Amino acid sequence: MPGVDLHTDIVFLSGVGPQRAKLLKEQMGIATLGDLLTYFPYKHIDRSKLYYSHELTPEMPYVQLCGRFLSFTVEGVGRKQRLVGHFSDGHGVVDMVWFNSIPYIRKAYDELHTYVVFGKPTFFNGRYNITHPEVDPAEQVELSALGMFPNYSIPEKAKKRGVTQRMMQGLVRNLLRLLQAPLPEVLPADLVGRMRLMTRDEAVRAMHFPQNALELSAASYRMKFEELFFVQLNILRYTQLRKRQYVGLPVNRVGDLFNDFYYHHLPFELTGAQKRVIREMREDMRSGRQMNRLLQGDVGSGKTLVALMAMLIALDSGFQACIMAPTEILAEQHAQTFRHFLGDMPVRVELLTGKVKGKARKDILEGLAAGGVHILVGTHAVIEDAVCFSNLGLVIVDEQHRFGVAQRSKLWGKNATPPHVLVMTATPIPRTLAMTVYGDLDVSVIDELPPGRKPIRTLHFFDNRRAQLYDHVRREIARGRQVYVVYPLIKESEKIDLENLEDGYEMLRAEFPDYRISKVHGQMKPQEKDEEMRRFATGETQILVATTVIEVGVNVPNASVMIIENAERFGLAQLHQLRGRVGRGAEQSYCILITSYKLAEDTRRRMQIMTETNDGFEIAEEDMKLRGPGTLDGTRQSGLAFELKVADLVRDAQVVQQARDAAREVVTADPEQCLPAYAAMWQHLRELKQQEVDWSGIS
Ligand code: ADP
Ligand code: MG
Repeated sequence: MPGVDLHTDIVFLSGVGPQRAKLLKEQMGIATLGDLLTYFPYKHIDRSKLYYSHELTPEMPYVQLCGRFLSFTVEGVGRKQRLVGHFSDGHGVVDMVWFNSIPYIRKAYDELHTYVVFGKPTFFNGRYNITHPEVDPAEQVELSALGMFPNYSIPEKAKKRGVTQRMMQGLVRNLLRLLQAPLPEVLPADLVGRMRLMTRDEAVRAMHFPQNALELSAASYRMKFEELFFVQLNILRYTQLRKRQYVGLPVNRVGDLFNDFYYHHLPFELTGAQKRVIREMREDMRSGRQMNRLLQGDVGSGKTLVALMAMLIALDSGFQACIMAPTEILAEQHAQTFRHFLGDMPVRVELLTGKVKGKARKDILEGLAAGGVHILVGTHAVIEDAVCFSNLGLVIVDEQHRFGVAQRSKLWGKNATPPHVLVMTATPIPRTLAMTVYGDLDVSVIDELPPGRKPIRTLHFFDNRRAQLYDHVRREIARGRQVYVVYPLIKESEKIDLENLEDGYEMLRAEFPDYRISKVHGQMKPQEKDEEMRRFATGETQILVATTVIEVGVNVPNASVMIIENAERFGLAQLHQLRGRVGRGAEQSYCILITSYKLAEDTRRRMQIMTETNDGFEIAEEDMKLRGPGTLDGTRQSGLAFELKVADLVRDAQVVQQARDAAREVVTADPEQCLPAYAAMWQHLRELKQQEVDWSGIS
């Protein structure tokens, strides 16, 4: 028997006419039979189980009780008039309440028969109530046949125009009946067997109408696995292709510069994590393949130094290297740091930002083209067309989320053979997300801070306790430390935000007349801004009042206090970044979060997380839980190839790993994509890719 074509228009399903078809298409994106088949319910209601009234809690979404009505009363008047059936199951009384059709209901049920009632319990006036329950005579109810009822998400608009749960259930039943031949399997048979997965056919059916909770969870596991497996298959196949296509520049010379630096210029011992990461990059760059590596390390973990050493490795093989930073201040700081670290070594480091003009710029460009400039540090300016390298071997992108993919890929073109690429980020990306979104990059993690750092102490203050706070600030400054005070600034409320900052600045001047205070915000001219930053960095001023311009990268080891005003307005990731500006020296550092007294629940939770942990990865996980993975910086730009319909990167972290392992095995087993056992799988991947989410329109 020929199978039903799942691309068939939904209008051909029994129970769907032209009008319903239009509604389903426009409001719910269900255009074909296949769309309906994978329009999985968001929850099921278990009607195979009876509860006793004394077991009820207000959290229960739906319950089913069996018992008798003791009596009926009509209560209230006018619009509030309602019929109350006092229902007892022998363990207690629960009130059934109807506001509509009172005469009809009163006739339909009596005090003699036993009924099964179903609905959502609420606790009110010392007793449980169920409003508008479903009531069936007990002798007509066969519990085991009721099973799990699917609930589909139906948008308001569709609801208004008549789409109901019952209708959806009916349509899906019709469809499943129509599909008599089993749905073809898309996962390799050996995988299904080995992992004891449900077949696709069983799973799809059970997703809608499972016999019980156990079957539902097996089906849902299978569908999640399938979804994540194809995401990983796509990534790994692409990675493999790239590895075969691009030859990596040969960075294989044992390095004089590297060794000289390591043995004679490095002012401290590298941490174990730094050593490991450098080793990983060294292996990559001499492997004959292009390096594509993501380096994650919490703020202050010493990524900048690792970047410098990676560049020295490239230089040793006769290549140039380039590092891009997201802001001018950061680029300048990097250039300074590198020059300082390198001392008198024969390495020419140049800084290229929008500010470098005229002859100075011309000199740098010529030096790059001729090969005399070894390391270029810059902002976006380095990807302009005028910038040509003689022999670019390594590109490092710092704080990657501020650079779009398109901008990065412009850099690839700066050499005939694409240079090695290292992407550094201090925004910890939860492992499962990294594996999925940056799945084509190899990942290195610096999970160790340089020795001697004391963990930052984070305190949460309500804004009525400033006096106490300022005493603390005074003590720190008296010890020679410096203090950041940060204000939020967003476009929508820019004017008020700046006023707040100015008010805060004046308040601090009045409070600390003996100290000098810097002020930095986005409205200032770049020169003024830089001058103020410089005054703080050199210790001329003791307090820096700023908006979030200091969020990224600034390094003033002597600063030991970070005060964040209106902390409720910052997200977790941002708070953690800001906190990372202190705790860079050997002193005990503090981060003080100031909020108003009244806080929303999730704000309270954010503050609590901040005071409880300094671990960037833990914070990133929590952040993802609070906000959902879609909102993390860069997710969209980097583009998940397909939308996830059943899997959740937070909840299904383990499945992500399993899917990746399985996909890796398959790609290794069938690199040419020609084994018959995998044909259906590759075909399915191609079909999925045709429906690929198009992010290109989203900037
Ligand atoms: P990141 O860029 O990861 O935020 P940085 O590279 O700016 O961190 O390093 C923070 C500070 O720690 C810098 O002052 C740096 O010189 C110092 N540092 C880096 N590595 C070490 C180490 N192994 N031992 C001691 N100090 C280090
Ligand atoms: Mg840094």
